[in-house]
Amino acid sequence: MTADLSPNALTPGPTPAVRHIRLTSHSGGLDARTISWGASTAAERGPVIGTTSRRSDRNVIGTHSGSYSVYRALAVAAGALSREHRADLTNTAPTDVIGPYPQWADPDAIVSLDPWGAMTAEAFADDLAAGRDIRPTIAVTKAHVALPEIAEAIAKGRLKPDGRFLLESGAALVTKAAVEPVWHLPSVAQRFGCSEADLRRVLFEETGGMYPELVTRSDLEVFLPPIGGQTVYIFGDPHDLANPSVELTARVHDECNGSDVFGSDICTCRPYLTHAIEECILGAQRGGVGLVAYSRKEGRALGEVTKFLVYNARKRQEGGDTADQYFARTECVAGVQDMRFQELMPDVLHWLGVRKIHRLVSMSNMKYDAITGAGISVGERVNIPDDLIPDDARVEIDAKMAAGYFTPGPVPDAAELARAKGRGLDT
Ligand SMILES: [Zn+2]
Repeated sequence: MTADLSPNALTPGPTPAVRHIRLTSHSGGLDARTISWGASTAAERGPVIGTTSRRSDRNVIGTHSGSYSVYRALAVAAGALSREHRADLTNTAPTDVIGPYPQWADPDAIVSLDPWGAMTAEAFADDLAAGRDIRPTIAVTKAHVALPEIAEAIAKGRLKPDGRFLLESGAALVTKAAVEPVWHLPSVAQRFGCSEADLRRVLFEETGGMYPELVTRSDLEVFLPPIGGQTVYIFGDPHDLANPSVELTARVHDECNGSDVFGSDICTCRPYLTHAIEECILGAQRGGVGLVAYSRKEGRALGEVTKFLVYNARKRQEGGDTADQYFARTECVAGVQDMRFQELMPDVLHWLGVRKIHRLVSMSNMKYDAITGAGISVGERVNIPDDLIPDDARVEIDAKMAAGYFTPGPVPDAAELARAKGRGLDT
């Protein structure tokens, strides 16, 4: 029986007939393009090719779309997608051209994304014409974003629509970019102070042996990891991000679906995010530019299951939910307090050419240290206004301030931290 491999075969069917399993753990095609990480032009750097169709072209470990590569496999298995499908990139070019910036040619500045990832169609037109399946890892587009908190800020007179950055309807005009992870393994290892061999071995083992090339193909230095990427929202002219004389208001935000989308009141994530968006709009209206970089690192990159287990452990512990036990409860369940590791976070700022953040809308010392450690200067740090902190989130914010988060006010003392402030589970 032969499966229908045409792109229009949308009816779920049997697995396409595969005569043999195509192992990737031995040497690739002789004509695979090489990647020179950190080269100063796209041509010298070479394309990132994670195709699963013409295997001889592959020059990376893993494949495109991060965790969604698994859904692509399901679509192929179900007979809904041809594994030979090539993206038609007509009219998909970025709405705004970002860079190139000097940071792109510094192999140590950007190690976890492909700075040329939005320029694939243009930079590698010859390769595409020669039949190579090269896919963008970055896409840049325009959008209107409308949030109830912004509408409220307009109603209360804190924000004024100008028809340019903010419409009467309450929608803000943004340029946004989606960025998939592209890791240069030697540089990522260096960033974390471990050997490349150790990084490769542990990635192989901790993904259940998902990518044998991590340990068998030391010639492949680039890995497309099966993890979430990030989205940047730019308020104002994206080119101003690279101009240190233009005031930049920025927040780097790690995903918290429960609060960001569903309004859970146990943390400050959504109120801090919407406050940052308000500050970004105000900054753009003052002649500056605003930036929110949103990373898919749910629940301190521990995932929601771990996060919800921690919530229960916090609220059921003897004495109630207290700030002095906040980090301990996470560590009991997860083994660590935090797995976000901000070391890779500044890469996206380097991609945008950022050299100075005038107003950093974050209290996190880890984010601040990572940004300044990456050579980006930070002026003012903007804390979340007290009246935006939900009652149940007092535990989190007090614990974080005591642990070194920036605060313009007093740091809570031991007695304050031991006072139960979180709600119980059933109230
Ligand atoms: Zn949160």
